[in-house]
Amino acid sequence: MSAAGLPDGARIILASHNAKKLAELQRILVAAVPDLETEQVISAAGVDLPDVVEDAVTFQGNALLKARAAAGATGLLAVADDSGLAVDVLGGAPGIFSARWSGRHGDDEANNDLLLAQLADVPDAHRKARFVCAAALVAPDGTEEVETGTMHGRLLRERQGAGGFGYDPLFLPDGQGRSAAELTPEQKDSISHRGEAFRAIADHIARILG
Ligand code: IMP
Repeated sequence: MSAAGLPDGARIILASHNAKKLAELQRILVAAVPDLETEQVISAAGVDLPDVVEDAVTFQGNALLKARAAAGATGLLAVADDSGLAVDVLGGAPGIFSARWSGRHGDDEANNDLLLAQLADVPDAHRKARFVCAAALVAPDGTEEVETGTMHGRLLRERQGAGGFGYDPLFLPDGQGRSAAELTPEQKDSISHRGEAFRAIADHIARILG
């Protein structure tokens, strides 16, 4: 442990407490940044970070707020994301409110139930949606980068599959014959909004660490 309570060798902090999302982020970055080891990418869990009020109104703005706070508190290269589901027929909602659409933050089951109920009468042709991810990087010297990724698809009428998290069981990515919850982690990374945004961020990290 360093004096600041950070594990020795830590180079990057991922400013998220969502364990499943963290696993995705760590996997994507380690695969995309040459010579980066899993142990060098630490999560915010166990590190004393200030609470961040996510009061920006865009994915990009909220991702930056989280990354700035983590970089300021740790002195490490900080990476954060903000993501969500945008449903065409709902005018882009739940959007930045995706995690708490049903009223309780992080209640995936209730969020999925509410979305299914809201779209109960919407025919297949009008069930288009997309996942959006903004990834932000803030370096100790103040450098800031933001990248955005998108995964297009449509919403199913009932849950399908047990993998992934959030709205994955209801989302049929374009060109895949199965839901996002039925993809392997590697298959999801290769087409996902988060994969696209973080591979772009990984290029910045490789340059900064290189
Ligand atoms: P965030 O943690 O503030 O970025 O909120 C993201 C929310 O959007 C999650 O709680 C999910 O409801 C939804 N979401 C974002 N990305 C995904 C994904 O890859 N699969 C399923 N749901 C997602």
